[in-house]
Amino acid sequence: MNLQRDRSAWLHGPEKVCQVQPLHPAQCRRFVLLGAPGVGKGTQAALLSAAFGTCHLSTGDLFRRAQACDPATLSPGLRQAVIDMQAGHLVSDETVLQLILERTACLTCQGGFILDGFPRTVAQAAALDVLLGQQNAPLECAISYELDPDALAARISGRRTCPVCHGVYHLLTRPPREPDLCDICRAPLTLRADDWPEAVRVRQQAYLAATHCLRDYYADRDLLLPIDAHGTPEEVFGRTITALTERAATPDA
Ligand code: AMP
Repeated sequence: MNLQRDRSAWLHGPEKVCQVQPLHPAQCRRFVLLGAPGVGKGTQAALLSAAFGTCHLSTGDLFRRAQACDPATLSPGLRQAVIDMQAGHLVSDETVLQLILERTACLTCQGGFILDGFPRTVAQAAALDVLLGQQNAPLECAISYELDPDALAARISGRRTCPVCHGVYHLLTRPPREPDLCDICRAPLTLRADDWPEAVRVRQQAYLAATHCLRDYYADRDLLLPIDAHGTPEEVFGRTITALTERAATPDA
């Protein structure tokens, strides 16, 4: 079965309708993924998406898509977002929340969602809670991938992405079948602009300053699911599935 989701409504906004309708699984899964840049959230999101038939909704993908557009076609907010992203800074809450509001249909989709890169600040998390509360679409949990700083630095320096399908590879742990070419669309793989060493340093600081508090935010609401992110993508994925299964079996989870 091809579980590649159609994310048109997410990537292009409310004017697009997804052509491939989501599956209607018995349980609609709604997750937020947390973790420092480079921890492997995108890779885990792709594996979870394939396992549950749930769309992988990345705010970073929205900004990278805007970056590839003619700046004259972008709103002032998105133009500034591209500048912020290239420098490794966070995009303003106002711009991010505007994009999310335009995509409310993705959050209430019967296929569920895996949010990657949003929320990134407590203000964004609080706004997401309000939105999901209004739509009666509660979060199952916030999966937090955790790795020590040295392992993080090593992981991010080997990361390569496909500019066409956004597939994520790693020179050591997930190399493409042919050197520097995407396995799926055969486009030359690139180092993302925000994965260059200077931007990575700024992103790690931005994460520590703003995103780290989200762990406490979700822990306070009994929604935090911490996962040790050491090891191969498959090992981390196995740990995630085990933890989700155990959580589902826990009364009141
Ligand atoms: P990511 O792919 O999630 O690492 O996002 C890439 C970049 O997009 C980040 O470094 C930020 O500049 C920007 N970005 C993505 N999501 C958000 C968000 N929720 N809040 C602020 N900035 C974001």
